[in-house]
Amino acid sequence: MIAKWLSGKNSLIWIKNVDNRTKKTYGKRVAIIGGGPAGLMAAEVLSRADVRVDVYDAMPSVGRKFLMAGKGGMNITHSEPFPLFLSRYGGHASDLGPMLEAFSPAALRGWLQNLGIDTFVGSSGRVFPTDMKAAPLLRAWLRLLREAGVVFHTRHCWTGWVGDNTDGLIFQSPQGEQEIKADAVVFALGGASWPQLGSTGNWMPIFHGRGIPVRTLQPSNCGFEAAWSENFKSRYAGQPVKTVAISFTDAKGQAFSHKGEFVITETGVEGGLVYSLSALLRTSIASTGKALVYVDLLPDKGLAWLAQRLSRIRGKESMSNYLRKSVGIDGVKAALLRELLPMADFDNPEKLALAIKSLPITLLAARPIEEAISSAGGVPFSALDEGLMLRSNPGLFCAGEMLDWEAPTGGYLLTACFASGRRAGEGVIDWFKGQSEG
Ligand SMILES: Cc1cc2nc3c(=O)[nH]c(=O)nc-3n(C[C@H](O)[C@H](O)[C@H](O)COP(=O)(O)OP(=O)(O)OC[C@H]3O[C@@H](n4cnc5c(N)ncnc54)[C@H](O)[C@@H]3O)c2cc1C
Repeated sequence: MIAKWLSGKNSLIWIKNVDNRTKKTYGKRVAIIGGGPAGLMAAEVLSRADVRVDVYDAMPSVGRKFLMAGKGGMNITHSEPFPLFLSRYGGHASDLGPMLEAFSPAALRGWLQNLGIDTFVGSSGRVFPTDMKAAPLLRAWLRLLREAGVVFHTRHCWTGWVGDNTDGLIFQSPQGEQEIKADAVVFALGGASWPQLGSTGNWMPIFHGRGIPVRTLQPSNCGFEAAWSENFKSRYAGQPVKTVAISFTDAKGQAFSHKGEFVITETGVEGGLVYSLSALLRTSIASTGKALVYVDLLPDKGLAWLAQRLSRIRGKESMSNYLRKSVGIDGVKAALLRELLPMADFDNPEKLALAIKSLPITLLAARPIEEAISSAGGVPFSALDEGLMLRSNPGLFCAGEMLDWEAPTGGYLLTACFASGRRAGEGVIDWFKGQSEG
């Protein structure tokens, strides 16, 4: 039996504050809503205090997105120098800085080691668990949390508050509607990407309805749409374009260029290289209706090299053979050139060389948030104090992807979710301390 408030109409009755399983009594009771990395980290911090911790999650099991992040290799953090690491959070580096300093990538690796999970640094500097998987990590973590007395309530979807204040929490559960009261609540409800894994963004209208500031959730680390011809997409959708560079210049004239690979899709482009520019591209599309990126199909070759190779007379050779033999361009790269370059330019070596180094692709829209790796938007830091407590609602804390920040893939997302979950857990403890001292 968990400590629970039973509801009458708009009234809550306290039953008891004793955990029958551990026979422990607790000074305070904290509800954590959302069992992703942020919520679980808050639970870990709080489980070490004299606090009863209940984790509620809408799904039949916790950590589903975390497990999905582990498919194909869980990139949990990054090993680059801390100032560079922090710069990946762009405009939100100063908001996240203190909590990332307190729980740095190095500290995260140490924490994993304590859980029995070894990590290694990949060639790109990204950090992975040695077995590349999330499941063993999640299993070990949940075992530790349960042993520390954390109680999990799955299939409990939080749908709002009882009455006009924020004292009583309402959950839809297999037992029907439940009303729960806690001394503090940590919301760690995630963004709205991959909603089938639990984070649907259904908390946004509830927060909004209570006057809590929220910024619209938007796709981040997402694909973008391009107007491919039927012929091109039917033949090349799904094909990776590598190794290339993509550059983009924003409205302020600041140029960004990244090297890597991207994938042609039915609707446009996706993949790491595109994700790394997603915030900039989204902003450009929002203000001008499009984003013009330039692809360098041969980033390791200079224009002079290309011009010299393309000065060779083509004669009767087909253009495909000529491109392959002269400069090593074939397959999807050659198809991209055919798709985007006027036919006449193929016979002009200068224009052809320029196009190979700087092929313009017009992107028209971000793909829907449901397909994105992560979300931008959410609760702004200005609405929160240093402990991630809502200034407008003392006792309510927020953590993880539901906060308004974004970062590229590369382990930055999980690291900030862990760090903010930890900060929110500490914030609750500090707040309780402040209350008892005051
Ligand atoms: C395919 C994919 C691959 C990824 N790979 C990586 C990677 O390699 N490295 C990396 O750093 N990041 C990666 N990410 C991103 C990372 O998984 C997320 O940023 C992270 O899981 C967010 O953590 P969170 O705790 O804030 O939210 P979530 O993990 O989304 O957890 C939120 C939880 O809240 C629950 N919930 C939501 N609403 C309610 C409600 N109303 N009531 C009760 N419960 C609710 C959900 O069921 C969910 O369990 C990946 C994401 C995806 C989709």
